[in-house]
Amino acid sequence: MKEFKGEPLLECASEDVVRAAQAKRFQTHLVRCARHSPYYRRLFKEAGIRPAAVDLERLSSLPITDKTDFSRHNEDFLAVSRDKIVDIVLSSGTTGRPTRIMYTERDLRRLAYNEQISFSGCGITAADTALLTCTMDRCFIAGLAYFLGIRELGAAAIRNGHGTLASHLEIIRMIKPTVLVGVPSFLRKLAVFLKEHGEDPAGSSVRKLVCIGEPVRGADRELLKLGNDLQALWQADVYSTYASSECISTFCECTAQCGGHLHPDLAIVEILDEAGHPVAAGQTGEVVLTPLDIEGMPLIRFRTGDVSFLMTEPCACGRTSPRLGPILGRKQQMMKVRGTTLYPQAVFAALDEIPDLGDYYLEIIGKENLSDDLVIHLGARAGQPSPEWLKERLQACLRVTPVIVIDPEDKVRHHLYSPESRKPVRVWDRRKSQ
Ligand SMILES: [Zn+2]
Repeated sequence: MKEFKGEPLLECASEDVVRAAQAKRFQTHLVRCARHSPYYRRLFKEAGIRPAAVDLERLSSLPITDKTDFSRHNEDFLAVSRDKIVDIVLSSGTTGRPTRIMYTERDLRRLAYNEQISFSGCGITAADTALLTCTMDRCFIAGLAYFLGIRELGAAAIRNGHGTLASHLEIIRMIKPTVLVGVPSFLRKLAVFLKEHGEDPAGSSVRKLVCIGEPVRGADRELLKLGNDLQALWQADVYSTYASSECISTFCECTAQCGGHLHPDLAIVEILDEAGHPVAAGQTGEVVLTPLDIEGMPLIRFRTGDVSFLMTEPCACGRTSPRLGPILGRKQQMMKVRGTTLYPQAVFAALDEIPDLGDYYLEIIGKENLSDDLVIHLGARAGQPSPEWLKERLQACLRVTPVIVIDPEDKVRHHLYSPESRKPVRVWDRRKSQ
């Protein structure tokens, strides 16, 4: 393939110009999948699809690829010879063993470009210094992606990764980064640590926080408690960024902080309803991505499992590209409690608003009548609200009455923090085993 070349101006172009450019890129992508990806070659043959005859208007007629397909037929997605691969990442698969995602040099250049336009979209420039608090190794792509983007932008990166809080504090004192990139709950912990050690985060050099992995905004696009805490503690602007490692695509909020701008030259984004039909802008559904111009493991209509919506009204920053709203939850974790649909994240948001609450995790229990039970296991703590008060409060916020179980704090912690997981495990879904 020719050298990767992005078209950043497409983000400000008219709908017609974007559609024409995407149609061309989409056609090239399909033909490439049919020629070089054993998985898609077989799929197209079996389904009688002639890629040259499928234009962008007929995108929704193509089959969906999900994580199980990708995991089960992993090697068949590889569309180049192994000598072209320069980096291999592992993602948690659905078949019990990790799934490989293989990148060529060109794919990494494309990723660097993607992160560069994401970072510059939220106002980061070559003059900035970014402290990266996410790991560069352990077979993850995120840390490497942010490093590549910062480098592409000409800004300076400090790769302290999963360093201790004390080491981050020392770096903030010594090198004075203007940007922090990391998981929001960790960035909040870091701010509290700074305060405890006589350093006011609000008075530090940090001006922007790029948040990954956890939502900082709710469906109304307003900051959640976590986002508000970050803004107040650091006195810095909070930006949310969303990424799919399988699709090698990321979307970051711009300076208007109103959803992550889509990059029309890099990916086509669809939002699908329960039946798999595309929904209109503003409607909630599953995010399905077709990343364009990928060399190593190209994908078509990949189900991310994440639930969100698109925003198409004009953005204050001047870009015309639609934006992806906050991630409202994982499709798999959707609950139906007596007719009300909700995601664990809405429960977290409601619980996080309540002061003095102990640690907690959720248990979702399936029942025969298709209604789920939501059980909140709360760590015992002196002075916290009573289970009755909590029930009423949650009923008012969520229109669902959960079962509240008070457990010893160490039991709750044992469920939350497992050595195998990067993040606390807050949801125990018992429905699959029933
Ligand atoms: Zn914007």
